[in-house]
Amino acid sequence: MLPTRPGEELEPGLRFSRSSTELGLRLTFLVEDEVEVHVEVNPIEDALKYAVRTNRLGLAYRTGGAERVEQQLGLRVCQTAARVIAGHEDRVLARLARDVDARVELEGTTRIREIRVSRILELAGTPDARFYTLSPYVGCLIGCRFCYAQSRLNPIRSLLHQPTLRWGSYVDVRVNAAEVLAEALRTLPRRPIKFCPIVSDPYQAVEQRAQVTRRCIEVLRDADDPPPSMVMTRSSLILRDFELIRETPRIWVGASIPTIDDEVRKHFEPRAASIPERLEMLRRFKSAGVKRCVIVQPMLPGDITALADALAEVVESVSIGVLRGEQGAEEDFADAAYAHCRDEAWQRDAALELKDALGERGVSVWLSELPPEVAGWRPSGSGS
Ligand code: SF4
Repeated sequence: MLPTRPGEELEPGLRFSRSSTELGLRLTFLVEDEVEVHVEVNPIEDALKYAVRTNRLGLAYRTGGAERVEQQLGLRVCQTAARVIAGHEDRVLARLARDVDARVELEGTTRIREIRVSRILELAGTPDARFYTLSPYVGCLIGCRFCYAQSRLNPIRSLLHQPTLRWGSYVDVRVNAAEVLAEALRTLPRRPIKFCPIVSDPYQAVEQRAQVTRRCIEVLRDADDPPPSMVMTRSSLILRDFELIRETPRIWVGASIPTIDDEVRKHFEPRAASIPERLEMLRRFKSAGVKRCVIVQPMLPGDITALADALAEVVESVSIGVLRGEQGAEEDFADAAYAHCRDEAWQRDAALELKDALGERGVSVWLSELPPEVAGWRPSGSGS
C-alpha cells in the first residue's frame, strides 16, 4: 500500500513497522527500535486539528503503550509518514478501496457486505506484551450509541467514498477469516489472540447464519497447541457455541457489563443482551470450567455494591475503563437521568469505588487489553 516495506528505516532511528485498516488507516513506526508510535490517517475535516496534513489527508499520532508520546517526536513521525504518503495518495486510496466492489446485501435498513481478507491477525500490544487481534466482522449491528468504533470506522468509509451509514446499521463479514486464520497459525509466531477489539462484536446477530466466529474458534480448537484466545461479547448468542468453546484449549470468554441495572443497560445498549443474560452466560461457562473475565467500560449508573457482588460470583478478574467520549450517544447522555455520568470526575470516582469493592471480594482488576494470565503467555520452549 505504501512505497515502503515493514522494517525499512526511513530515517536514522525511525522504522516503518506495519499498517492496518481495521480501525481506520493506521501506520505504526518504531523509534530507536523501542517506542512504537501509531499515526492515524483520515480524510481532512476542516473542524479537526491534525499534527500534519497532506493534500487530502490529516495525520495524528499516539503511542502503542500507556505513556504519552512527546509532541516533538509525534510531529517528527507524522512528518515522515506524510513524506512517505505524499505523491502516493491515489495509490493508498485505491488499495484501501479494493473491497468496495465486494458483495453487498441489504436486509431492511441493514447493510451487510461480504468481503475476503488476506490477513486476519493484526499485531497489537506493546513490544514486551504482544498479542494479535482477530475481527471476523468490522462494524456492529448491536450498535451501542456510545461505541468508540464509529469514530474510527466512519472516517475511513468517507475516505473510500462509501455511503455514510448510521452506526449499528452496517457490517462487513470477513467470510474467509477461518481459512486465513488456519494459515496464520501455521506460519506466524504464536501469540495470544483477542477477538474483536472495539470494531465489532463476534456474536452480533449476523453470526447466527454467517458463523465466521464459530469457524475461527473451530480452527483454534483443532490447532496443534493453540495459543490462548479471548472472546468478548455483549450477546448471548455465544451460548450456541457452548460445547465448542468448552472443547477449545486455553480459550477465555468475557462479557462487557457496564452496570448492574438493566434499565440503564436498555437506555444505552438497547440491542445487546440483558445484564441477567450476560451473568447467566458467565455462570454457565464457569460451571463448565471455562476461564472468564468481565470488562466494565464505560462506567454507567447503578448500584456499585450489587455490581461487585454479581461480578465476584462469576469471574476472578475484571478490567475497568471510563467513558472515552460520547460518540453518537450525546442524546442518551443528555437525558436528565443520566447526564451526571458523562462527567469525567463521576466516571473516575465510580471506577475507583468499583475497584475497591472488587478488591474486598478478592476479584483482581487489570488495566491492560488482556487478563494478565493471557497477556503473559509464552509458547513452550520460547525461553521467556
Ligand atoms: S457491542 Fe461492542 S462493538 Fe458492538 S456497538 Fe456495542 S460496544 Fe460497539
